[in-house]
Amino acid sequence: MNFYLLGYPVEHSVSPHMHNAAFKELGLDHRYSTLGVPATRLGEVVESKIKVDSFGGANVTIPYKIEIIKYIDELTESARKAGAVNTIQRREGSLRGHNTDALGGVRALRESYGSLSGAKVVMLGAGGAARALSAEIAPMVDELVILNRSVEKAKSLSESLGGNTSYGSLDEQRAIESADILVNTTPVGMAPNIGESPVKSEYLHSGLFVFDIVYNPLKTKLLSDAEKAGAKTLGGLWMLVYQGVESFRIWTGYEPSADTMYKAAIRALEEMRH
Ligand code: NAP
Repeated sequence: MNFYLLGYPVEHSVSPHMHNAAFKELGLDHRYSTLGVPATRLGEVVESKIKVDSFGGANVTIPYKIEIIKYIDELTESARKAGAVNTIQRREGSLRGHNTDALGGVRALRESYGSLSGAKVVMLGAGGAARALSAEIAPMVDELVILNRSVEKAKSLSESLGGNTSYGSLDEQRAIESADILVNTTPVGMAPNIGESPVKSEYLHSGLFVFDIVYNPLKTKLLSDAEKAGAKTLGGLWMLVYQGVESFRIWTGYEPSADTMYKAAIRALEEMRH
């Protein structure tokens, strides 16, 4: 069966390495490859690659996580809550859209931080990843503050979550001083812009846990600055691995080794650097 990552551009993704390593380990005769889809060709690709019997499953990434919804027959609750699809499953000829990003992110965060109950969380960004993660995190924590470059987007995300959430501008970072957890969902600091951080280092402190969902580089400037301030840190690679584990389980029914997928991702990132 054929599995794909749909997006544009996708050639530098580590997902094929993770999934192919897991297929091999489980003795499954499947192949996962990238499918770079230029704008205007998404419908055509859905017909020729996905609505065919050799299709096993797909992940969807930037910029198609929302646009793909119009081709999907049924959304699971995870996709509805996130308003975006990152995993396509084909069952009896019909397409189901899931979102495993939030599950992956929350699993990674809880394994590293522990229970989120009672925590004050500041989230930077209000895009797709922020929407998926905040829907899971908001009900688990005491307080969630969403800071975004476009304040209007932070406002509408905060209002959709209700209750214990508030919002502000990315320039106004004082809320970090009293936070337990900081989650960065902006791409600031991602390769090639590795010298950038979305946070003024004066706001970082030793009582903070910093989760940067960017995974390339493995240690972003934000994470280095946070370590210098005495904060505990977590990079984005385990989130990527756990969202992949969940997608794999949905497609195949098998439980892949997260460790095998993590090692394959690290190897691929190292090869890309050389
Ligand atoms: P998105 O929907 O495009 O949202 C991007 C967010 O970042 C928006 O809130 C945007 O603010 C903000 N932003 C973008 N550039 C900025 C800049 N230069 N300065 C300040 N804010 C900026 O993207 P996404 O899908 O949420 O993905 C965001 C990041 O998360 C990417 O780096 C992606 O690789 C990473 N990610 C990682 C995983 C994982 O498994 N580890 C999973 C999903 C995503 P505006 O609203 O003002 O434009």
